[in-house]
Amino acid sequence: MDRRQFLSSIGKGIGATLVTAGVLAAKPARAQVKWAVNGRPLKIAYATEKTSICPYCGVGCGLLVAVQDGKIINIEGDPDHPINEGSLCSKGSSVFQVAQNERRADKVLYRAPKASEWKEVSWDFAIDKIARNFIKARNETFVKTEGGVTVNRTDGVCNFGGASLDNEECYILSKMARAMGLVRVEHQARI
Ligand code: SF4
Repeated sequence: MDRRQFLSSIGKGIGATLVTAGVLAAKPARAQVKWAVNGRPLKIAYATEKTSICPYCGVGCGLLVAVQDGKIINIEGDPDHPINEGSLCSKGSSVFQVAQNERRADKVLYRAPKASEWKEVSWDFAIDKIARNFIKARNETFVKTEGGVTVNRTDGVCNFGGASLDNEECYILSKMARAMGLVRVEHQARI
């Protein structure tokens, strides 16, 4: 047996094992079924589906977001998601109304100190403003030592995570918060 025959026999063996195990013959995920039983196409039949996470609470239920022509046309529970397996509570079931809602604020609004009116500003303005306010509050309240012990902390800023943050984002956020001296690092899921 030469090298080519040897590799070929290994490949056939692996293929036979996968077919036996049902891996290659696996049925499509339930989330891919888009057609009604009577043959009429569902409204999401021609949409592209993306996965997302419900923004409301710390359970973190999975969502299927159907997008057609650049517009969200449906949001429902993701049956392939291990947490909710397709189900959603009343809040999650209404999340489509958050995405498609003419009353939803989709621009950055800013009300200056002592001003009575909100004005539209850019994301660059908002991010710069938040960064400056953050560092100002942190520096003004920073405590280097307490009772002769080095503490390097601030009580003037807290960090509050949300349900849409995944493990990695929470990790980076908490690392940054603690590096800046924050001791009040919380997450919505604990409330
Ligand atoms: S669907 Fe309900 S339980 Fe699930 S994350 Fe959203 S609010 Fe929480």
